[in-house]
Amino acid sequence: MSDMSNSLPFNSSIICGFFTPLPPEQAPDDTPGFWAVLQGSSLMVLAGLQQAQLPEGSLPADIIPQTEPMRIGIWQGKPLRAVRIAPDAILPVKYEALPFQGPDIRLDNTLATIAGRAAQILHWERRSCYCSHCGCGLVRIVANWGKHCPSCGEDHFPHIHPCIIVLVRRGTELLLIRNAAWNPGRFSLVAGFLDFGESLEECVQREVREEAGIEVANIRYVGSQCWPFPSQQMIGFLADYAGGEVKPDGVEVVEADWFSVDALPASPGSKRSISRWIMDTYGVDVTAAHSVIKP
Ligand SMILES: [Zn+2]
Repeated sequence: MSDMSNSLPFNSSIICGFFTPLPPEQAPDDTPGFWAVLQGSSLMVLAGLQQAQLPEGSLPADIIPQTEPMRIGIWQGKPLRAVRIAPDAILPVKYEALPFQGPDIRLDNTLATIAGRAAQILHWERRSCYCSHCGCGLVRIVANWGKHCPSCGEDHFPHIHPCIIVLVRRGTELLLIRNAAWNPGRFSLVAGFLDFGESLEECVQREVREEAGIEVANIRYVGSQCWPFPSQQMIGFLADYAGGEVKPDGVEVVEADWFSVDALPASPGSKRSISRWIMDTYGVDVTAAHSVIKP
């Protein structure tokens, strides 16, 4: 089994050596440091640089955070704090906001990964103010991202949603689908969320059956990726065609077809995504294979 997917953006390996994660601080800490300022799915960086840099020092006075600054770790030896600002906030001219899922090479994979981690943490913080069981305000579990309900006693931990993504191969052809929400001409791999009572392999079989109407076999795990939009765990697979005629469901998926590896549509997904990585790794060299994992 490969661990190459560890090198994908948003996975921790990308920032090990530069970043030490820390649990939420229990006491105020005003040691100067760096800022991960998020605006939607963009990261605020110093403007006009070939290689983006995080703001350092005090949070600029004309930046109005919507959230309390939250220290999430140590970046290059100094505290790194994350805040979110309004989607329509006008940035001071010294700064610009770069999408961290997008292709802008000024934002390297390291900073994209920092931004993704900050976004995932702030998303959890925003969604974990109140107990989903009784509605009472939650308190932090010491040295942990979890929260505790003082009223009913329930503990809550960060919600990370498992999602399979699979490249289905038939000889030298690949199965690609177009989601109803995507522009014509854009195709990607079959993907979907794990359902109750399923193994990951069963989820692969069901999603391919639902989205494309065919059966698959020989399902092999190839790698995984943290996907902080807002909080998924993408689990990647290869599978072989095993029967049936391709037929999109017509609702979630409006097109599904076999594409020859010599005539693929535009590369699927963001260049930072596991879908792109799976295609680049296993979609061109169709002999590339991994050990079979049996359910
Ligand atoms: Zn409760």
